[in-house]
Amino acid sequence: MVQGDNGGRYPRSPQILQRRLRERQPILRADPPINVSTLQHIPGTFDVLPDPTGSPGAFQAPAAAWRHVEGVVRELAARYGFEEIRTPVLEPTDLIARGAGATSDIVTKEMFAFEKGDTAYVLRPEVTAPVMRAYLEHRLDQRGGTQKLFYIGPCFRAERPQKGRYRQFHQFGTETLGASDPRADAECIAFMVAVYRTLGITNTRLRLNNLGDAEDRRAYRNALRAFLAPHAAELSETSRQRLETNPLRILDTKLDHERRLLEGAPLLPDYVGAEARAHFDEVKRLLSALDVAFEEDPALVRGLDYYNRTAFELESPDLGAQSALGGGGRYDGLAQAIGAAQPVPAVGFAAGLERLFLALDATGATLPAAPRPDVFLVALGDGMAARVFLLAERLRAEGLHATYDLRGASMKAQMREANRQGAPLVLIVAKDEDEAGVVGVKDMASGVQENVAHASLLDALHARLSS
Ligand code: AMP
Repeated sequence: MVQGDNGGRYPRSPQILQRRLRERQPILRADPPINVSTLQHIPGTFDVLPDPTGSPGAFQAPAAAWRHVEGVVRELAARYGFEEIRTPVLEPTDLIARGAGATSDIVTKEMFAFEKGDTAYVLRPEVTAPVMRAYLEHRLDQRGGTQKLFYIGPCFRAERPQKGRYRQFHQFGTETLGASDPRADAECIAFMVAVYRTLGITNTRLRLNNLGDAEDRRAYRNALRAFLAPHAAELSETSRQRLETNPLRILDTKLDHERRLLEGAPLLPDYVGAEARAHFDEVKRLLSALDVAFEEDPALVRGLDYYNRTAFELESPDLGAQSALGGGGRYDGLAQAIGAAQPVPAVGFAAGLERLFLALDATGATLPAAPRPDVFLVALGDGMAARVFLLAERLRAEGLHATYDLRGASMKAQMREANRQGAPLVLIVAKDEDEAGVVGVKDMASGVQENVAHASLLDALHARLSS
């Protein structure tokens, strides 16, 4: 044990402990934590609990609500013919750096990246590049047809945590790979909108833009740069850098004086060629035919570099500063950006589950709570704890949610626990009655208790539960 100067019991400082970790020395029980937050979540992450406690590290929606929302996504995905794909949380840094664009905020500021041996890893900040990697690696095109995939899973970005913005958050989304048909764009938007609609979130705004094709954007980039260059001195440090690296990002600015400056700037849609224009017109026609309302926003540019043609974002005015529920678009350039020999026409979206919950909260919807047991078994008398254990297992085999108290508590305490867990029926398993072939069934709502013969117990429980 490393000797500190606090009586020789503890390592003196967190640094000593960190060195121990680095050098793979054992951490001893007597060691103090690296810092006081060892028993706390990392800021920007949270626990999903059976019942939320309101503490800062617990997400407001209970696990049952997550299951419900994920179930809606899965059910709708099945209806739309999106198949599930699960990719690792760890990806090669190179994939993400190429996929998300070297100048994007995600790559320059927000990656949780580390090295081990001579490999550089990143905790995925998004799922599109990983899905494209999997598609190319496993030659999914050889299954034939278009690959329509969906995912649900965690993503990681080293951002400043705030409401609606986390370091570990969860995305669901789709990727339609191998399709250049505008119906693929409209279908993925329709699916995204259907998820929110199904959950009753209708106070949303869908914005669309046409980013054109690569050469259109090159021409526009030059025009925008030429327009802004004489005003370079008036731009913020960040925007001045973006003027060199990626001037389209300046359109995202939140600074008033930059917004005013941009009022006379050239507009991207004016630089879009005939083919991309026809594609976008068809997407809009299809959405209108479905009664999906949208607004065109020529300033909508995506943070990621590989998007072309259709770009969209769904917002909720109920979310405050972090108003984006989800967004996406066409990314015909991604496959080659990450090293494929041929382009793969593709379109998809990603949406944040946490923001969906915030929007759901604003609708006043009641979220499903943790499931309650059907039956709570109370043991009364010597040896009855083991009997209750066996009986509960038999009821579970018959499909009932059965539970009991594990602390060997008194009858009163067991009844209190049954109440706390909200079981509608309590089974009182008392030694004498049980030996005589009956158990007590108490209806917690009415307080009525009846003895039921073992042979008819299951029928009696089912009858009471369905009444
Ligand atoms: P993006 O890949 O940045 O377009 O993100 C897609 C969606 O994921 C956003 O519209 C948000 O709903 C969600 N999202 C992105 N970053 C975060 C974050 N740090 N915390 C919570 N949700 C996020």
